Formats: sequence, structure tokens, C-alpha cells
Amino acid sequence: MNEPIRPAIVVVGSLHYDIMVDAPDRPRKGETVTGYAWRPKFGGKGGNQAVAAARAGAQVRMAGAIGDDDFGPFLLDHLNAAGVDCSRIERLSGVGSGMSVAISDSEGDYGAVIVSGANLKIDLAALAEPDLWQGVRMLILQNEVPEAVNIHAARAARSRGVIVCVNAAPYRPFSPEFVDLIDVLVVNAIEAEQLGSVAVVDLASAAQAAAFLSQNFATVVVTAGGDGVAGQKRGETPIRLPAKPVDLISTHGAGDVFVGALASSLANDLSFSECIAAANEAASLHVSTRHE
Ligand code: ADP
Repeated sequence: MNEPIRPAIVVVGSLHYDIMVDAPDRPRKGETVTGYAWRPKFGGKGGNQAVAAARAGAQVRMAGAIGDDDFGPFLLDHLNAAGVDCSRIERLSGVGSGMSVAISDSEGDYGAVIVSGANLKIDLAALAEPDLWQGVRMLILQNEVPEAVNIHAARAARSRGVIVCVNAAPYRPFSPEFVDLIDVLVVNAIEAEQLGSVAVVDLASAAQAAAFLSQNFATVVVTAGGDGVAGQKRGETPIRLPAKPVDLISTHGAGDVFVGALASSLANDLSFSECIAAANEAASLHVSTRHE
């Protein structure tokens, strides 16, 4: 049997060292609360999507930045263990790695602080280096790094015929310049609405949102959590796929797994409906698996 093709993908994006804290309450202003436990977690949408694309079978190169603290090696170790090529992740001095602290209370509600740190200092010139793009089919971007970084990366990709896939998370307004560089847009229900579509409350409204967004983006995928996913290629038949019924453990990070798996399938030239089905499968497995 032939080996499956492992398409090359570049991910440009964020890396966060997430500190997850369990406590009876979240602290109010001026209050100190004694927590029960904490654990570090690998995070940042860029990093999570790079790992997901690698697990889905792609050869992934990640471009980004870490600081000169002890969090940086933790982030690199995790990426290396997933088989992601980290040779374009710069270690910057005088700046901290991206990190977050998330406090979950006994009700399951949480509050978080994110510090972007080195993610705000990704070197634009490095994104245009030809060897980064050697043999690459697809670029994945998200909104946790400055838009200037995304625009530079997307321009470098486009000029080499590399497909540009953008996960517009978290929401921020697009500049018209960036919109023109995007081939594939992936958003969840909230982001779709923030981008001006109808409220996404079920699979039918997800499909409406995808059709609306396809006025500006050639290919759109709207994920609607447990309701399913809608895809629209401009001028083609819409795709609607219900979520797989699963025993839910946690939806944390589901969108990132979806994006990584979708990009990996798209880069392998599978049909649009096969790509959506593969991403749906990977994300449903993720939400029904315990990760710690
Ligand atoms: P995000 O994590 O970005 O908010 P979603 O919540 O839309 O994204 O979830 C992304 C994907 O994860 C969905 O399209 C689906 O494939 C899968 N998923 C999420 N929630 C569920 C669920 N309750 N049951 C099955 N699959 C789910």
C-alpha cells in the first residue's frame, strides 16, 4: 500500500503557557483566594492548531516566538513531541513567553488573564524567507497575533500559490487588505455573528451564516458546536453536517482541533465535504476524550 501523502503546512501564530487553577471562588477585587490545585497546559491557538494538523497527518512547520523564560522550553517540548518543526520559532530576549492564568471555580465558571508577550513580537521579515515555504501547500492563521503578522504571512503564502486558511478567533474586525488574502475562513457561531451574520443557533442558521460570509470569502466553514458544521464554497452546493453524537467530556479546544484537521485534509486535496467530515470526526473525538 502507498504511504499516505503528508502535505506540508505552515502555521503562524500564538504559543501560550496556560496555568489552570482550581479554586472554590474566583477572587474579587482586593481578595486573595486559596486554590486547590494548578497545572500547566500547552496552549495558544497557533500551537494547538499546529499540533492538531500534525496529528491529522500533515508535516507542520510553525513560525512564532517565545520569550527567554522557563515557559519557552515547555512550549517547544510539546510541539516537538507532536512532530512539529520548531526551527522557525524564535527565542527572544527581554520579553516573556505568551501565557495565561485561568481560574475555575466550584460552579465550573472561569475567568482568565492572557498576556501575549513574545507573540506580539514575531519577526515579519522571517515570514518572507523562501525556505519557510519550500513545498508548502497551506498556511493556517488565527487572531492571537497582530494583524500585520497575518498580512505578511498571507502575502508571502499567496505569492507562492499557498492556500491561506484563517481561523478568525478571537474576533477582531478584518482590514479589507487582509480579507483579500484569505482563501478559507473558519469561524464558530459567536465569531460568525460578530462578523455580521445571523445568530447561529442551529445547523440551518449556521448554513445561512456560511452563505452570508461567502460573499467576502471564497470558502467558509461555520462550526456550531454540538449542532454541527456548515460549509460553503462560493457558487457551490452548501454542505451541512450534524455533529457526531458523543459522550461529552469537554469542548475546550474543539475549534483548534477542527481547524488543524480541516487544513490537513484540504492540503491533501480531499473534496470539501470529505475535509469537513474529517475535521468533524477529529473534533468529536477530541470533545469525548479526557486530556489530563
Ligand atoms: P469552538 O471550540 O471554536 O467554539 P465549536 O464549539 O463550534 O468551536 O466546536 C468545533 C467542532 O467541535 C464542532 O464543529 C464539532 O465538530 C465538535 N464539537 C463541538 N461540540 C461538540 C459536541 N457537543 N458534540 C460533538 N462534537 C462537538
